[in-house]
Amino acid sequence: MNEHNYWLSTVAAAADTAPAIPDKVDVAIVGAGFTGLSSALALARRGSQVVVLESRTIGWGASSRNGGMALTGLKLPVPTLIKRYGLQKVRRMHDISLESVDLVEQIVRQEKIDCDFSRCGHLQVACKQSHFDRLAQSADCMRREFGHELRIVSKADLCQEIGSHIYCGGIVDKASAGLNPARYVAGLAQAAQRAGACVRGGCEVQAITRQTANGSLRYSLRTSGGSLTASEVLLATGAYTSGIAPALRQKIIPIGSYVIATEVLPPALARELSPRNRMIYDSKHFLYYFRLTPDSRMLFGGRAAFFPETESTVRQSAEILRRGMIHVYPQLRDIKVEYVWGGTLDFAFDVMPHSGTVDGMHFALGYAGHGVAAATWMGTKVAGVIRGEASDTPFSSIPFPTPPIGLRSGHTWALPLAGAYYKVLDWLT
Ligand SMILES: Cc1cc2nc3c(=O)[nH]c(=O)nc-3n(C[C@H](O)[C@H](O)[C@H](O)COP(=O)(O)OP(=O)(O)OC[C@H]3O[C@@H](n4cnc5c(N)ncnc54)[C@H](O)[C@@H]3O)c2cc1C
Repeated sequence: MNEHNYWLSTVAAAADTAPAIPDKVDVAIVGAGFTGLSSALALARRGSQVVVLESRTIGWGASSRNGGMALTGLKLPVPTLIKRYGLQKVRRMHDISLESVDLVEQIVRQEKIDCDFSRCGHLQVACKQSHFDRLAQSADCMRREFGHELRIVSKADLCQEIGSHIYCGGIVDKASAGLNPARYVAGLAQAAQRAGACVRGGCEVQAITRQTANGSLRYSLRTSGGSLTASEVLLATGAYTSGIAPALRQKIIPIGSYVIATEVLPPALARELSPRNRMIYDSKHFLYYFRLTPDSRMLFGGRAAFFPETESTVRQSAEILRRGMIHVYPQLRDIKVEYVWGGTLDFAFDVMPHSGTVDGMHFALGYAGHGVAAATWMGTKVAGVIRGEASDTPFSSIPFPTPPIGLRSGHTWALPLAGAYYKVLDWLT
């Protein structure tokens, strides 16, 4: 088995260029994932001088490691969101989630990004009858309040959607999409470069300081590839935010998520497992998400270990996930698992996305496993804010709570306790 990322094996190796970093730019973006690169694309298209600085390879973070599910909705169910933020704000959040998938499609088409984008829809399956009742209530609420139709699928009809017998029903949202995330993030980088942005991998930002020169504020960035100054900075570092932005780092709960991919499946078996080729995830806190890849492998992910990825958590996760996959699909018992990898999710304590400024620098993160579409949208919106447009995102006006110590990035000793709590919750509810 390869202990690396299947998606990367589908991307042509990029030419090994390391463009010189400009001395002075309008906007310096730290992190080359969906957030940073979509923002760079939008800024460069409007004539800003932009540099994207990435410590590893382009797209190295969560953006090349995920399930490739461009999902509608947020992590939290709509009734919970309405209770917390009120109907009007949640209506806008819901619209944004639909706009986000549209935006990904628009960028893919305009920039001709070859990433197997497909409006295949998503299926959320219910692990228990009580979960099915909640999903159905949520679907009713979305139809009533937002006019958005989800299809409620009873247990009896579920065989049209999935070749597994363990679930109690589900809901389908046809507006969601699937793509190859490594190809999408590579395509975003190329699009940003074509628009005039400088995108530089292998360049770690080590320190950022504020300076005032001739009455105007600038940022000075020390990097492993030299120094530069910028009028504005966007921190697009997601779950991998480090000590360069301590005030932001302490807001993030970095949660490990792991994925396996099988060998290529015979066409009839692939059709049996997922007859409509949906993006699928279940209703638990400690959830599984799965889908067929464009070349018909079963890609199966979950929170097999709660900690961010290390060699040993990746290895342990492969076996845990294989057992999970066979529980869902006994048909895969004799199928080989060829790849395993892990990545880190960017969770906020309130499980919501957030954008705004910290120490004068812009940020956007907290996508909680919904970042493929949401990060593209947020990066694009932050570009607008940097260009002086009024912010119309509800995610910049909601409170951004700091998690208790023990869950914060850099000090995650209490994460296993949180993991155990959610496992018990899944068992009880
Ligand atoms: C295993 C897994 C599965 C997922 N599945 C899905 C899914 O199916 N659907 C979905 O919608 N979402 C999914 N997600 C979430 C989604 O991938 C993320 O929300 C999204 O990619 C975040 O993008 P980003 O650009 O904000 O951050 P990232 O892609 O994480 O990029 C941040 C980058 O910042 C760089 N960086 C950090 N510090 C520095 C520094 N000092 N200097 C320079 N560079 C720096 C890092 O190297 C990194 O590349 C998944 C995530 C994981 C880990």
